[in-house]
Amino acid sequence: MYLFYSLLHKILERIFQRHSYLRRPKLSSADKVYLENNFPFYQRLNPNHKEEFVSKLEMVLKGRTFIGRSEIRVITQEMKLLIGATIVMVTFGFRELRLPHFSKILIYPDTYYSTISKQYHRGEVNPRHGIIVLSWNCFLRGYENERDGENLGIHEIAHALKLENIIKGNDESDFFDLSTYMDYKALAIEEVEKIKSGQVSFFRSAGGINEHEFFAVALENFFERPHQFFQYNSKLYGTIVRLLRQDPRVWIKN
Ligand SMILES: [Zn+2]
Repeated sequence: MYLFYSLLHKILERIFQRHSYLRRPKLSSADKVYLENNFPFYQRLNPNHKEEFVSKLEMVLKGRTFIGRSEIRVITQEMKLLIGATIVMVTFGFRELRLPHFSKILIYPDTYYSTISKQYHRGEVNPRHGIIVLSWNCFLRGYENERDGENLGIHEIAHALKLENIIKGNDESDFFDLSTYMDYKALAIEEVEKIKSGQVSFFRSAGGINEHEFFAVALENFFERPHQFFQYNSKLYGTIVRLLRQDPRVWIKN
């Protein structure tokens, strides 16, 4: 009998560990005030959606490790809230999506030198090790001007989102509707070609590097300049609305 109970205990423990959201830490009221004052997407939501946002943020932060690099010795609550909130914003159209493959967030104080690419970076994603790397200065700069279509946090989370969709074994791959994605891709390739050939484009030149960079740049504009993006190319904008299951034009006044 004892053996039975001890086995049962072990099984229950396993289940609770797997479904770690059951024990996720709650956001404090100070955290919510912080979001209200510092995260524009959250500010604009109605009370019901705010509750949804908070509960999703608790889920996103649970089981994610933040690691400071170089002079970053302490991970502040501000870092966790703003980076977590960016993940919630980009994935807000999907109730359960939390990008678990990218369980580690590395934070550098500023741009950092990569020994692999022999270049300075502002951020990157490493799907092999499940890591998102961000320069904190560059991350904050992205939110200083929230209407210029440049935002490092959105950019790197967009890369992570696109990868998470194709990486198997996370309980959350293949969440993009395939035919919508194909519609998006056809229009995105046209835009990449346009940038490459030097024609005037709404998107900055980094979007013309390849299709992956385009997706990240497109999402920066989707969240920061949705009306202008829609005016520029309503079809492309429409495919991203369907892909991400949300339309930022609802929250942001023109
Ligand atoms: Zn990129």
